Amino acid sequence: MKRIVIKVGTSNLSDGETILSEAIERIARSIARLREKFEIILVTSGAVASGYTKLRLDKSLISHKQALASIGQPLLLETYRKIFESYKILNAQILLCGHDFDSCSCTQNAKDTIEVLLSNKVLPIINENDALATAELKFGDNDRLSAHIAYYFDADLLVILSDIDGYFDKNPHEFPEAKLIKHITSIPEQNLKTTYDPHGHFATGGIVTKLIAADFLMKRGKKMFLCNGAKLEDLEAFLLEGIQRSGTIFGESK
Ligand code: ADP
Repeated sequence: MKRIVIKVGTSNLSDGETILSEAIERIARSIARLREKFEIILVTSGAVASGYTKLRLDKSLISHKQALASIGQPLLLETYRKIFESYKILNAQILLCGHDFDSCSCTQNAKDTIEVLLSNKVLPIINENDALATAELKFGDNDRLSAHIAYYFDADLLVILSDIDGYFDKNPHEFPEAKLIKHITSIPEQNLKTTYDPHGHFATGGIVTKLIAADFLMKRGKKMFLCNGAKLEDLEAFLLEGIQRSGTIFGESK
């Protein structure tokens, strides 16, 4: 059975204020369908946003963000647990940091756990250990972490769900004429560099971390699919019927 890592971003789960259980419900419904054909590992963000619904700390401070993550992570998982239970899917939580992949024995331990979970039809739900992972919190999102998970845990494909239909030849939020690139096999080095705007935000949205994730996987002979989390029917068509309505495939097609 092919193994797929699906990464869900905060933008797929929240309205900017709270985590929406309807959003989790839609993702769970899709995952339940996909599990008939694939082994699925879910990587989810959303801990800080969940924590913020309970305690309004100033999120510009790293220590506050970490405290919010530690409040929010159990709340987030509880929402997933309740919803997946209605699909008779048992889930498990694994919290990882980037440096967990620096040590072979640590990676192997995590992989052994994942194998046991998957062979018992349990859905592993992974998040960054945000309460500890300072650099990860600063540089944001689980894109690079999910690429490591896909590679080290032997997935055939990483799916990144975003708020956009895929990778365009330029930022579609700035350039309405931007064209979707449906398939790409290499990324120019200059597109992998993060640039910041004067407010310290990514000048290019979060697309660079997605490109870095894709580049990491492509250089190791793996594939990634970037698609819109609001169009899960397109993801299902791609994975279950091999029809690409939207989204970008990164890597050689077989
Ligand atoms: P998420 O929160 O879903 O992880 P991000 O907002 O971090 O997603 O990253 C996606 C955003 O990157 C898009 O909404 C878009 O504004 C921006 N972006 C910049 N350049 C591009 C591009 N060439 N193609 C697609 N998106 C781009």
